[in-house]
Amino acid sequence: MPEALVCGAGVAGCASAYWLRRRGYTVTVVERAEQLRTGGQAIDVRGVALEVIDRMGLGDKVRAARTRMRGMSVEDAEGKELFRSEEHTFSSGRLDNADVEILRDDVVELLYQATSDVEYRFGDTVTALDAETGRVEFARGEPHTYDLIVGADGAHSAVRRLAFGPEEQFRRYLGQYLAIFPMPNTLGLEDWQVWFQGEGVGGAVYPVPGNEEVRVTLGFGEPEYREIRDPAEQKRLIAERLRGVGGMVPDLVEAMADARSFFFDAMLQIRLDRWTAGRVALVGDAGYCPSVLSGQGTSLALVGAYVLAESTFAEYERRMRPFVELNQALATENPAGPASEESVERAKNGISLAR
Ligand SMILES: Cc1cc2nc3c(=O)[nH]c(=O)nc-3n(C[C@H](O)[C@H](O)[C@H](O)COP(=O)(O)OP(=O)(O)OC[C@H]3O[C@@H](n4cnc5c(N)ncnc54)[C@H](O)[C@@H]3O)c2cc1C
Repeated sequence: MPEALVCGAGVAGCASAYWLRRRGYTVTVVERAEQLRTGGQAIDVRGVALEVIDRMGLGDKVRAARTRMRGMSVEDAEGKELFRSEEHTFSSGRLDNADVEILRDDVVELLYQATSDVEYRFGDTVTALDAETGRVEFARGEPHTYDLIVGADGAHSAVRRLAFGPEEQFRRYLGQYLAIFPMPNTLGLEDWQVWFQGEGVGGAVYPVPGNEEVRVTLGFGEPEYREIRDPAEQKRLIAERLRGVGGMVPDLVEAMADARSFFFDAMLQIRLDRWTAGRVALVGDAGYCPSVLSGQGTSLALVGAYVLAESTFAEYERRMRPFVELNQALATENPAGPASEESVERAKNGISLAR
């Protein structure tokens, strides 16, 4: 049996493992974290990506776990309501559309459960690789040679660095930083999102299904990209930038200090001329992160995993390129907010699964 190594157990990694297993590979997934990495907001599964989910037999479970928002409101920096809608939300568009908004945790967990025939090695990562021969060295495991190596290790991919070069040449920074974390629903939100805007800062709070907890996003604008790795420094920066914003924000900032999980990153896109080299292929954010602003990172990862597993590398490049371009454009189309409904519609259906 041919052997595949997948680096990263997020959406792209678990979905790649699923489809490669079905194409006859023995699959090993290495994940740097000690367990599945939870955290994040609700994400969208739309258009062709839902078709991929249906082909995995996960359609009912994914739809059952969807968020069921009643609507959203927008507040100013003093907590005064500026706008409300019961027809759409910024995060998922029209509430009556067929797309699924689901917590990132839930979709990763469902994909993980669907890959019980795959070996997962947590707490390990790739430290060296030879793209031509397929030989890989690990931080903990023994070196091994694979027929296929999939880099599904996110926007700051180690596989990409080792096989294609440093991140700087592929990164397009979009001028903002974001933090996402959970807190108890002390705000009493019931299936209702609240967004807020201030001078150079903004964010949102959404309850999880059942409303016991909320997921908080806090962001600020920053002209230049800089590497901010230390979580204490990340939290300090967020608190500093949001100082002076009123309404619910002080409570959110206070809750951030002890949040049980914390995600922080720059809004960025990853752009490469090609996603394959030797025996290595990049899938999901590692190859074509469209940024949180596009709302399409998860859908691109699901479709990319499917297309890679049933294509030659040349076909993967050819089929995915226009789809990736349409979806990356969503993040830059409207600098002041979400892309238009027409653009989202075109982008989410911008590839056919038929070969
Ligand atoms: C904790 C977290 C929260 C997120 N929250 C949101 C959100 O709220 N909204 C949104 O739009 N997008 C969010 N994202 C990004 C979103 O998950 C992706 O855009 C999309 O799902 C595509 O996923 P991916 O699998 O390509 O990348 P990711 O989801 O980033 O998954 C990459 C995986 O690879 C692992 N990894 C990273 N480096 C290494 C390494 N060197 N070796 C081994 N494993 C490695 C990571 O731990 C992670 O499990 C989040 C990502 C993470 C990791």
